[in-house]
Order: sequence, then C-alpha cells, then structure tokens
Amino acid sequence: MSEHKTKAEALVYAPENGHSRVNAAEEERCTQYCEGYKQFLDAGKTERECVQEAVALAERAGFRPLVRGETLASGDKVYRVNRGKAVFLAVIGEKGLEEGVQIGGAHIDSPRLDLKPLPLYEDSELAYFKTHYYGGIRKYQWVAVPLELHGVAALKNGETVEVRIGCGKDEPRLVIEDLLPHLGAEQSKKPLGEAIPAETLNILVGSQPLQGEEKDAVKRNVLVLLHEKYGICEEDLISAELCAVPAYEAMDIGLDRSMIGAYGQDDRVCAYAALRALLDVGQVQKTAVCLLVDKEEIGSVGVSGMQSAAFDTFMADLCAASGTRRDVCYEHSFCLSADVTAAYDPNFAEAYEKRNSARFNYGVGLCKYTGARGKSEASDASAEVVARVRRMLDANSVLWQMAELGKVDYGGGGTIAQYMANRNIDTLDAGVPVLSMHAPFETVSKLDCYMTYKAMKALYEEM
Ligand code: MN
Ligand code: MN
Repeated sequence: MSEHKTKAEALVYAPENGHSRVNAAEEERCTQYCEGYKQFLDAGKTERECVQEAVALAERAGFRPLVRGETLASGDKVYRVNRGKAVFLAVIGEKGLEEGVQIGGAHIDSPRLDLKPLPLYEDSELAYFKTHYYGGIRKYQWVAVPLELHGVAALKNGETVEVRIGCGKDEPRLVIEDLLPHLGAEQSKKPLGEAIPAETLNILVGSQPLQGEEKDAVKRNVLVLLHEKYGICEEDLISAELCAVPAYEAMDIGLDRSMIGAYGQDDRVCAYAALRALLDVGQVQKTAVCLLVDKEEIGSVGVSGMQSAAFDTFMADLCAASGTRRDVCYEHSFCLSADVTAAYDPNFAEAYEKRNSARFNYGVGLCKYTGARGKSEASDASAEVVARVRRMLDANSVLWQMAELGKVDYGGGGTIAQYMANRNIDTLDAGVPVLSMHAPFETVSKLDCYMTYKAMKALYEEM
C-alpha cells in the first residue's frame, strides 16, 4: 500500500517554495545580486537612462561599440546603441553564427506620464504641465504621489539638453493632486477607471508669481527657472521628451527583506537579469546576444521598438563579420523573451486561476503563450521549445514555474516574444512574477529575480 502511494507520488508535479530548495550560500548570492539590481533601478527610470547605465556597466566588463565591417573573433564583446533608447550586446562564441545565437531580450520602457508638446499653462495662479500617459496605467494610482521629471529637450541647434528634476536629495519634486474625501462624494460613485480622467493628470509645477509680470506670472516664473537651469524656452518643449516618473528609490519590502518594491520593475527586473548574465558569462559556445528595447508598453512599435529593423541590422553586421547569412542564423537561434508576468495575489483571487498562476518564490515564470481572447497576439511557443527550456533550467539548478497571466477572458497582455518568433527564432517568454504590475510601485520576490538571472545565464551558456 505504502509502496503504491510512493510510486503515485513520484508521478505528481508538486514543487515546493523556492526558499526550501536553495541553500544558505545561494540565498547569499541572491541577496548580493539584488543589491546590484536596486542600484540599476535607481540609475535608470527611463529607457534613455537605462541605456546609459547598461553601456556603463558593459564597458566596465570589457564591451566596446561594434564597428561595421570589422572581423570578430571568439571572445569579442561588442554593443550598439539604437538612438539612445535601445541597446544590443553580444559576446562572440566559438561556433559560427550559422549555428544560431542565444538571445535574452527585455524591454526598458515602463508606463509613465509623458509631457505634451505644449505642456505648460497657468490656472488660478498655479502652474501645471499637461500630460499624455504612456502605456497601460491605472490613472487613480498616479495622483498624490511625488514625481520626478526625466528626459531631454532637443534644441534647434542640434544640441540635446538632459533634464532631471527630482533625483538629488535637495531637489524639488512635482505632484498631481487628488480630490479631498470631504468633497469626493460624487467622484466616489464613478467606476475606478473613470474617477480620474486623463486630462486631469496635470502636474503641479509652481505657485509663485514672477514679480513685475501682469499676465501668467506663475507660468512665466517657471519658464525663467527652466531657462536658468537648462537654457531652454517654451518653444524648446515642443521637441522634448520629458517623462514624469515616481520620485522614490528601490527598497526592500517585508520584515524578512525577501522582496523589492520600486517603480519600473516591468521590465527592468528582466532587463537587468539579461544584461548582468551576459556581463558575467565567460567563453561561450554559441554567440550570446542581449537586447534591451524600447516601446514594448505601446506595442513594440517605432524605430526603437522590437518591430524595428534596427535589431536585424545589428545581427546582419554580426553575421557579415563571420560570413554568415542572417536568415540562416535566425533559423537556428533561440530566444528567451524576458518579461514579467503577474504573480498570484490572494487579495484579488477572483482575477487569477490559481493552478496556472505564477507565485512568489517559485522561480522564473515561463509563459508558453500570452495574449488575450483565446491566445490572440500570442506567439504560443511549441511544446518542444518548452521542453528545451525545462531541460536547460533543470541542468543549471534554476527554479522555474509555469505562468498564465490571470483568468482566461479577464484581460491579457503581450511581450516582444511574437516579434522574435516572427523572425523565425524559437522564443519562449520567461520572467519575474510581479505584484501590482504597472503601478507606480511594483513588488517582486528577490529569489525570483535571482532565478531569472540564472535562467538567462543558462541560456547564454547553453551548448
Ligand atoms: Mn513588460
Ligand atoms: Mn508592461
């Protein structure tokens, strides 16, 4: 009887919490890794800043810009920046590119509030910036939280001025106000999605009038301050990209410090894993490629998104360096689309199908498919691809779990996976489960972050 039970038990898939499957040394490596990750988060709150930080880390690890037409040798470490908003990095392997490359791909744009081209106005002696939100946000989450402004203003003379309001300890912050509960009776009757209309997401930027001015004295005072600090005028804001992002740093969450809370962890948590793993690999068999791209949150569109040919051009240049056809390289390549998934939240249990949801501390979440309404817009990786990843992760003691993003027909989401698969590259989604995804403050488990790093390293080192 007991022997029969044991046999049956061996047939059951019942993984345990990751913390009971790793030893103290592994926990310590996890903690160390997450310290570096938190620094990466604080250094980059926009895709432009993430690219700068990624390049700085890569150059310290011996990477250099790829020169078109050069010949490359095994062990070479190169990168290319696409318009300051995306970066492709490669470690050249011992095998030729006709045998394919191992790709870890993540996105570095996050939901936020962009300033409109003509943002600045004054109303009732208060100065505001108009915003146009970027990506999927829940608008009610962005009021009454401290904000910073990060971005650039491109001038007519060709110069680009970097703008950072916030960041430093003594720097001022900005905010969008909310209605006080005392007067919120009517607002509270509205559905959550309608209570804060997009056109009320106006950022408060000043209240002090410029002395001697009769018209719009508060607005003009803000213009004077912007000119003093950045040398820009109102018209320069037309060719600017200024993003309002939350004004707090990454921090440990929980009495046990087992989690991290921060803005923009979708998808910088996977971007850091994909990058750090590439910086840490030694000599690889197949060429290892890390891509960190922009515009995923609005459909991977545009010249800096995954649908752009910029990646194909980078790969064509790598292939030319070894006399390989790019399409042959793609055919044999393999990609982990490293993007976050939803973690099961017991407080909103009705939105999840528990058996197939990712859970904190069970490791990197593998998504065979994403999409909505019957897998629409999903690349739906093949069974063989999932098996290959199971094999690869188990061989490297990487904790992993399968993940679906919530209940069927409750919503859905996408990643860059379909655009990699469209290129004839076998691709599987793999990433960190997140609580409060897309909120100004998202939470992840440290162990899942570290396991995603280990998964990316296993990918680059796969034979
Ligand atoms: Mn994402
Ligand atoms: Mn997202």
